[in-house]
Amino acid sequence: MSDTFKAILISRDEAKKQSVDIVDMSPDDLMEGDVDVRVEATTVNYKDGLAITGKAPIVRRWPMIPGVDLAGTVMRSTNPEWKEGDKVVLNGWGVGETHYGAFAGLARLRGEWLVPLPERFSAEDAMAIGTAGYTAMLSVLALERAGLSPERGPAIVTGASGGVGSFAVALLARRGWHVIASTGRTVEADYLKSLGAAEVIDRSELSEPGKPLGKERWAAGIDAVGSHTLANVLASTRYHGAVAACGLAQGMDLPVTVAPFILRGVSLLGIDSVMAERPSRLEAWARLAEDLTDETLGSIGTRIGFDGILQAAHDIVDGRIRGRVVVAMP
Ligand code: NDP
Repeated sequence: MSDTFKAILISRDEAKKQSVDIVDMSPDDLMEGDVDVRVEATTVNYKDGLAITGKAPIVRRWPMIPGVDLAGTVMRSTNPEWKEGDKVVLNGWGVGETHYGAFAGLARLRGEWLVPLPERFSAEDAMAIGTAGYTAMLSVLALERAGLSPERGPAIVTGASGGVGSFAVALLARRGWHVIASTGRTVEADYLKSLGAAEVIDRSELSEPGKPLGKERWAAGIDAVGSHTLANVLASTRYHGAVAACGLAQGMDLPVTVAPFILRGVSLLGIDSVMAERPSRLEAWARLAEDLTDETLGSIGTRIGFDGILQAAHDIVDGRIRGRVVVAMP
């Protein structure tokens, strides 16, 4: 392949000052891998926003093509599992952090990182879901594995109008949970209710320092926010409930006491999507294909072009993106 393609490249100078450029690259410029994938759709995650704005040390090899999620078609493979023409999805594995990522026309990847694009989804559908939707699904599966079900009581979702939160609301509601959506954007109450939220609360109820234990309000939670919010969610979780912790939009700290754990038997379930094992990924994508309606996908995803990625990266870090951004590649 000698065709050039556009890519976003993050570089650093000797003084460690970061710059971001749109460059032309050729397949020879890519890093090692046994499968070349034509990127047909990608997305802008919070993490991509942090990488492009330089607000957190996401990039760990310089220069770097950011972008942690992609869907596309195999163009070349020396991996026995994949052949030319296969439709695939990639989430995480350090792509966009230590290995050239999704914001390029072509990606060279390791075959074991890929999962098949579920037949139900187009490349753009898969990117409306992206790491956010797949993480929300991993969280739902973790709650189910902890033995929780809707009969046990309501489920809270924090950061509800963001990417992870929107999918968490929709996926829990689809399985019959009474979902309490916590958001700083109460103007999005109708959006959250359209996804299946039964109640919408203002995130200020949870974001300030709170008591070690509070009134029992929910049996389960999916938290994309961390910090005082997660501490307060835990403090108000019912006896033997569980909370899946997957994000840090408010902060990386967790100012909690042991009270919810030792007095109410509450469990805190850690969710990592980046290095999740392949069987968990396959299970999550299969359940996403089963549970998500076209209507939900349509209302969560907003379509932009390659040229819109940089602006979207700034917007997501500034909390101006509702749901998910889908990048349709040229
Ligand atoms: P988004 O930016 O789309 O959503 C984050 C949401 O958090 C915002 O929409 C907002 O929701 C809320 N929020 C933002 N700032 C604050 C604040 N200061 N205090 C309280 N709430 C706040 O990001 P994603 O949904 O893509 O990701 C959410 C989090 O999950 C991020 O921290 C991300 O890094 C993490 N993540 C972790 C993964 C893992 O593998 N564990 C995978 C994917 C994401 P609202 O306006 O409704 O209040």
